Amino acid sequence: MLELEEKDPANQSTTPGRIFKIIRDSGPLYANDIVRRSGLAKSTVSAYVDKLLSVGLLREDIPEGGKRRKLKVAESAGYVVGIALGQSHLDVALCDLEAETIDSRCCPVSLLRESPEEVLGKAVAFARELEESAGLGPQALFGVGIGLPSPVDYANGVPVNPPVMPGWDRYPVASFLAQEFTCPVFVDNDVNVMALAERDKGAATGIVGRRGSFILVKAGTGIGAGLVIDGEIYRGAKGAAGDIGHIGIDGDETLCPCGNRGCLEAVAGGRALLARAEAAAGSGRSPFLAAELAAGSPIAPALVAKGAASGDEECIRLVISSGASIGDILAKLVNFFNPSLIVVSGGLTGLGERFIASIRESIYRRSTPLAAADLVVKKSALPGGGGTTGAAILVLDEVFSHRNVGRLMRGLA
Ligand SMILES: [Zn+2]
Repeated sequence: MLELEEKDPANQSTTPGRIFKIIRDSGPLYANDIVRRSGLAKSTVSAYVDKLLSVGLLREDIPEGGKRRKLKVAESAGYVVGIALGQSHLDVALCDLEAETIDSRCCPVSLLRESPEEVLGKAVAFARELEESAGLGPQALFGVGIGLPSPVDYANGVPVNPPVMPGWDRYPVASFLAQEFTCPVFVDNDVNVMALAERDKGAATGIVGRRGSFILVKAGTGIGAGLVIDGEIYRGAKGAAGDIGHIGIDGDETLCPCGNRGCLEAVAGGRALLARAEAAAGSGRSPFLAAELAAGSPIAPALVAKGAASGDEECIRLVISSGASIGDILAKLVNFFNPSLIVVSGGLTGLGERFIASIRESIYRRSTPLAAADLVVKKSALPGGGGTTGAAILVLDEVFSHRNVGRLMRGLA
């Protein structure tokens, strides 16, 4: 099919989608830019642009002082709902067709204690509230996306063997939400969704661009990676690609809840770090943490970072060893995958710049010079890791795929 499309650049079913994608990725654009970027005839571009304008998916944008019109996505022609579910919090955002947040809601949840129906019910209630307060009707809802802290079978929209979510294994999340919203629903792993947010709105935009390749690492209680290859999420055969938390660190014997020894998550994840910090406070090895614990401060990554900044040697050691273990595994990925960017996100980034620096140093030390040349390792700057924004982008990528834009146009005409 793909071959056919390539041989027939004016293929009717996918051409509007191709044009729309170019404008989504790089707009606002002049019609001439679209002709140049697509390789399509000027008359073809012009005909489809007119159709996309008439059904309301595109709008004209006249630059200040300019005479000629530019074309951009009609961001207010509809909206999407992005849901980010964490172990202890739920975030729901109403977004426009460029994945900009119109309004959002959040609340604490417990995936250990609450059933999927309870948690998803809260998400649905938030979405309804947001639609209502923005004065939007359900007919303008293009789709709903959700990121789950679990491996996900993407084709079926179900979580698979989630480690700490009793009752969620193979729970039909997509069909539950589709029944509530009567629109397309897309379910993915939280890390993949965060990677999409970095691609379009975060670290990747200035470095590799929307068609680039990079790795997003979420370092929190768990550790996982999202792989973006030429602008697309790589999910692997079953959706398990990027699950780096259970890759073993050579020579480490720490027992992991998965039953293996030396897993990255068991050695360098948030739970392991906080347990070590507590032990260091209890034994007095860290005078800073001992004093903070005695004063009633909860042990958290930010506190360990503060201790490290104040010169507490044990805190410095904790930060550096966690970063070094993560960097050690990432170096293997760099040798294999050769990305030009690694974005680090998640709760452990609260450990500060020293943590990122130790990841970077460990990657450079352990990867081959060619693979590491020009590699950028940086911390995510997106609030909350971009979970709801990424979930919105997941929906937009699907409903605005090459094939679907043509269908959408026929529906709107
Ligand atoms: Zn493990």
